[in-house]
Amino acid sequence: MISRSIRLRVNKQLLQRSKVELKNFKSTISLTSTTTDYPTNHYDAKEPYLTPTFINNKFIKSDSQTWFDIHDPATNKVISKVPQSTSEELEEAIASAQSAFEEWKDYSIIKRQSIAFRFVELLKANQKRIAAIIVSEQGKTFPDAMGDVLRGLQVAEAACNIPNDMMAQSLEVARDMETKMVREPLGVVGSICPFNFPAMVPLWSLPLVLVTGNTAVIKPSERVPGAAMILAELCEQAGVPPGVVNMVHGKHDTVNKIIEDPRIKAITFVGGDKAGKYIYEKGTKLGKRVQANLGAKNHLIVLPDADKNQFINAVSGASFGAAGQRCMAISVLVTVGKETAAWVEDVAKDAAALKVGSGFDSTSDLGPLINPESLTKAKEIIEDSVKQGAKIILDGRNFKHDDAKFHKGNFLGPTILTNVKPGVRAYDEEIFAPVLSVVNVDTFDEAISLVNANKYGNGVSLFTTSGPAAQKFAKNIACGQVGVNVPIPVPLPMFSFTGNKGSFLGDLNFYGKAGITFLTQPKTITSLWKTTPFDDVLKPSTSMPTHD
Ligand code: NAD
Repeated sequence: MISRSIRLRVNKQLLQRSKVELKNFKSTISLTSTTTDYPTNHYDAKEPYLTPTFINNKFIKSDSQTWFDIHDPATNKVISKVPQSTSEELEEAIASAQSAFEEWKDYSIIKRQSIAFRFVELLKANQKRIAAIIVSEQGKTFPDAMGDVLRGLQVAEAACNIPNDMMAQSLEVARDMETKMVREPLGVVGSICPFNFPAMVPLWSLPLVLVTGNTAVIKPSERVPGAAMILAELCEQAGVPPGVVNMVHGKHDTVNKIIEDPRIKAITFVGGDKAGKYIYEKGTKLGKRVQANLGAKNHLIVLPDADKNQFINAVSGASFGAAGQRCMAISVLVTVGKETAAWVEDVAKDAAALKVGSGFDSTSDLGPLINPESLTKAKEIIEDSVKQGAKIILDGRNFKHDDAKFHKGNFLGPTILTNVKPGVRAYDEEIFAPVLSVVNVDTFDEAISLVNANKYGNGVSLFTTSGPAAQKFAKNIACGQVGVNVPIPVPLPMFSFTGNKGSFLGDLNFYGKAGITFLTQPKTITSLWKTTPFDDVLKPSTSMPTHD
């Protein structure tokens, strides 16, 4: 029998030996912002800031020869650069996460919960700082960027409930025999993130990865890595040990390493269809768990009995907010009957009054698109759709900002196309821009069939004052997130993000109970501690136990 103290000492020595040495890296970089000091306007970076890589709780300057420019989408000036992490850096990040897992998984649940509480407090204290970097790199308005952080913060708050969520089940299955089922972490989890929610999407998984005892290798979008770097700093400040959270950068090479490395046991992906299908198919073939949230085409159906003003206010915000670059943005308005078709004029009036401009300008309602390619693509889709029979009733293509500073920005004003139907490009493709396509149908049943025939299933909304219509809608609509008089029905994180059909690949959704199940595996332990002596020692039984 070795004593507990000797055992602990031996374990500690083993852990120290297995700790990864960061011998390949030469220098560190500190972040440009602090909790109280962050950009409040667009800036000219004489020398663009080099985004660090985060390994073993250190901000490392990459040795890479390949750096990608990050532009301010409102001015198109280069404000920072992000590296294609080298193969040594990727190796070091995964090795750190693998090594840290051995220790982190044995932290008590209460200790991990207290770190999560501290992380929540730090997120609140740094909300404006994170929002500011989102405005600089992504372009959305400051209040919208605050919402980006808030929706991630709510996942972190829900993660603090982990002792309840991880509670084991146990049952006395026979006299003196107990079976207990616990859930255990998987190991290293890789996360690949999109550009449109630089804080929220990393936070859809990071807090749950941590509290469930897993470790993380995160690849933020190469277009907007700044917010994620602040999250890394806050993890360290919250008491997350070295190696538990690592952030790497780049494009395909980084994604391929995350997919292929056998030490990474599960992958969370949010982004477009092409990358998502590739990652899901390759990852699952290699035996990994993958959850992948993909593209969307979200419809809003309006019935003639709807409250007209409530509907008009809702549709403008949901279609044009964040410049339409939300996976839950309303991109198709389905008017049912002639009366609601006439309401589109009022929607257009409302949308025309929205102010397009800098995300730092408190009067702006929507900012620019992420890059010139997205602007060109949106314009091409509008043009092609018009050739296919659509009619433009609000045209945002010629938007020009009053201030010359923004003349090179990727701005597109709210645009509304009527006379759209399946087969028209604006209906068939995800535009990801402030473009609303209007489809008119005669009946509610036709509207439901239209939505159900669409390949995507992220979100859908109905505006009505009829309870029976709402009931019929909720029961018959084939879409994962359903709103009734709510245009963007994203559930809070005590539930899960439940997109379906072509908007999701996998079995278990992000966050909520499904998220925790995705990040853990069950183990059953059956024990027998007899309270009565064995009286039949010399009669071993070869038949199945009877559980009496
Ligand atoms: P994207 O697919 O271009 O990029 C997402 C991530 O995948 C990035 O980190 C990128 O580096 C990587 N990537 C891109 N192309 C790749 C490829 N060919 N192979 C491997 N990796 C690749 O997506 P995006 O433009 O950053 O984000 C917008 C998209 O994300 C939209 O389609 C939007 O609907 C979707 N999105 C979906 C949800 C959801 O919950 N369903 C949420 C947010 C965004």
